[in-house]
Amino acid sequence: MNKTFCPLPWKEISSSPSGSVRLCCSSTSGSNLSLHSDGTVAKMSDDLNESWNTDFFKDVREKMLTGKNVSACSNCYKQEAAGIHSERLQWIENFPDIKPENLTTKAELSEVEQLDLRLGRVCNLQCRMCGPYSSTSWEPTWKALGNLVNQPDQKTWDKLNQNNWPENPDVWEQFKLFVPKLRRVYLTGGEPFLVSKNKEFLKFCIDSGHASHIQLRYSTNGTIWDAELPSMWSHFEKVTLNFSIDGLDEVNNYIRFPARWNQLMKNLDSAKAASRVAPIHISVSTAVQAYNIFQISELISFFREKELNVYLDLIHQPSYLSLAVLSPELSEKAKLKLQNEISYPGVTGLIQLLNSSKHQEWNQFIAYTKKLDEIHEQNISQVIPELGI
Ligand code: SF4
Repeated sequence: MNKTFCPLPWKEISSSPSGSVRLCCSSTSGSNLSLHSDGTVAKMSDDLNESWNTDFFKDVREKMLTGKNVSACSNCYKQEAAGIHSERLQWIENFPDIKPENLTTKAELSEVEQLDLRLGRVCNLQCRMCGPYSSTSWEPTWKALGNLVNQPDQKTWDKLNQNNWPENPDVWEQFKLFVPKLRRVYLTGGEPFLVSKNKEFLKFCIDSGHASHIQLRYSTNGTIWDAELPSMWSHFEKVTLNFSIDGLDEVNNYIRFPARWNQLMKNLDSAKAASRVAPIHISVSTAVQAYNIFQISELISFFREKELNVYLDLIHQPSYLSLAVLSPELSEKAKLKLQNEISYPGVTGLIQLLNSSKHQEWNQFIAYTKKLDEIHEQNISQVIPELGI
């Protein structure tokens, strides 16, 4: 198999929270949207056969079949260069039967086995690495950040706020085309337990008699628990609840404002209790970034005691929160702390990345952090003193 092939453009349909059809959730925003020939963004409510076979998708598939780099896939290539098992490599393992020599640049909807469904962007948090495109509660804060971030024009704000693509019956009609073959559905948001359409989708799968061959995967911020869900989940083959937790206690509260650690731990206990009645698997996913790099080893050991795996993801965007902002001195300090968990999967990859961190965009990191601290009434020097700010 060549170095750029990935099964997703033949096997997965991925939507952004605003209903745009994109390459996948790990691809680089800005270069990952499917475009119609008139330059408009392809939508989930358009004819999906067309939206998924635009020149954009055909070009991606052609490059993947001939071993050429796809610019929207640079996050995977960077991970692989750092020795990290990328999403691309994980998907190759998840689709062992796919044979590139049997594929063409056109893909058939009837072959879709996976959906990455973002049925809305309702969210109660303003995580520091997120923004208004994925969380409704971010909007006033984003505006208050002024020119520290890219400000959408009024037309874009209006579009974001009027976005009601999951209300369109055509979307649900098209789901019927591939629900018989679906194996995996990734549901997030916004916060998936606040997005009401997610429950409608579960009902749709249960009522159509296809839930039993579908595995669900949620990424939740863990601040909400919906007690009605476990009985619905009991119809599905498997449910993975990925709790997005980026630090212990105050560090998580700081990054994932205004999360509350005690509530999060309570909801984790509710999920564990539910796993006794439904096929639920619980894990923790951590977005590794400059704010939490000093706490990664403690986080791993805290959740090991709770018998939960921590999956380490990297923050690439915004780049001024990534590990690349750290100075050589801070990188050395972070590497020392990581030694405590050196054999944990992904940790050596983090150390390699720290070896090459370029101390770039540090001023932007400081400016963004301080302004957000002012708006959120937080103080980085109290929560993450290791950064020395
Ligand atoms: S190579 Fe990575 S970014 Fe590209 S489609 Fe596959 S998982 Fe997505």
